[in-house]
Amino acid sequence: MKIVINGIHANLRFASAHMIPCHEFCGGIHGHSYHVDVVVEGERGGQFGFVADFKTVKSQVRKMCKELDHKLLIPENSKELEFKSKDPVEFSIGNKEYKIPREDCCLLPLPSTSAEDLAEYLAGKLFQALQDEGDIKSVEICVNEGIGQGAYSTKKAE
Ligand SMILES: [Zn+2]
Repeated sequence: MKIVINGIHANLRFASAHMIPCHEFCGGIHGHSYHVDVVVEGERGGQFGFVADFKTVKSQVRKMCKELDHKLLIPENSKELEFKSKDPVEFSIGNKEYKIPREDCCLLPLPSTSAEDLAEYLAGKLFQALQDEGDIKSVEICVNEGIGQGAYSTKKAE
């Protein structure tokens, strides 16, 4: 069975800045009001016959959103970013140079901060966080860059 949480209605949101290096329109720093939709699939179990407790899932996702909220999202594994320092965060992309206070950044172990990579990252993290919640088969995350466009990623049990 699946449980579904709608990020707008359940307030699973974050507002962050990012850039997509070398992209014609998205190469400059810009921001999105993101929201995160969640689908958790698993066997019903426990005292209440839940797939997973909504409250637990929401609080885990909110915690993840909070880490990203009001930060510049920096992909640490990007091939395009040439780091000089991580505190302050100092890097270049081609001939563009950036120096940003560490507390204004969220460094992520990702090749990019596209909706696709953020969805993959959050799906993996939430799947991990729900391991003690029961028999979870998969966690699906949609990271929406505002209303009407988002990327889905599913982390399945092996
Ligand atoms: Zn963007």
